[in-house]
Amino acid sequence: MRGSIEVRIGGLVDLSTVDWPSKLCSVVFFSGCNFRCPFCQNAKLIDPSYGKLMSVSDLVKLVERGKPLIEGVVITGGECTLQLEGLVELCRALKERGLGVGIDTNGSNPKAIERLLEEKVVDRVAIDVKAPLKPEVYERVVGLPGHGNEVVTALERSLDALLRSPIEVEVRTLIVPGLVDQPEQVKEVAKRVKGCTRLVLQQFRPEAELLDPSFKSIKAPERVLLLALAKVALREGIENVCIRTKEGGLERVRRVSA
Ligand code: SF4
Repeated sequence: MRGSIEVRIGGLVDLSTVDWPSKLCSVVFFSGCNFRCPFCQNAKLIDPSYGKLMSVSDLVKLVERGKPLIEGVVITGGECTLQLEGLVELCRALKERGLGVGIDTNGSNPKAIERLLEEKVVDRVAIDVKAPLKPEVYERVVGLPGHGNEVVTALERSLDALLRSPIEVEVRTLIVPGLVDQPEQVKEVAKRVKGCTRLVLQQFRPEAELLDPSFKSIKAPERVLLLALAKVALREGIENVCIRTKEGGLERVRRVSA
């Protein structure tokens, strides 16, 4: 029966102004993630048994309380594509109720992304490209030593599907000092994601609880570094490059800006 599929969720934010540029939205956090990024700020959501099971129909009722204020729903995690049947059902139900649907993904499940695109149940995908797509680098950044090849192969396929699609595709790269903070790295990412709607360079913040506590000693990169890296991406031909920092929030960086 439709709506009877259950999903395990770790949280729900009724109203967000920052998760979907230019849209008021609700945010649903799915439990479970297959990556182990040392800088992860949602570490509790990595556990697939965290949170509570809910039927998709109950979840839709909860989210609908936000109408008519909200225009859309962002489904994030964890990694929401790991609960694919529930995710597809939820996206479909939200669209049937006139809401926009966005998902955040780490790109590791290309079959899920292809299915969501085929079924036309998402309007926007925000995908992490955490580093240049080199297996030896990527496996370190996502905390999966020895799995670099499979992770990169999956991410390549996800990107291919998304960059061919007509929907809004936001690419996110976290700038972490000592790990991903070099102009050459941003240049490589920008080259690979050309054609995306927007590239957002995000500022690593050590304040929250992090999966690897040793990352707490790393300082947040300065806004001025993110601005310089954004200009590298602009020079590679990405039209819309933004930075997200604690100091300035989400800012679009223009070619002419100082
Ligand atoms: S930061 Fe990494 S480990 Fe944490 S939820 Fe995202 S992809 Fe998973």
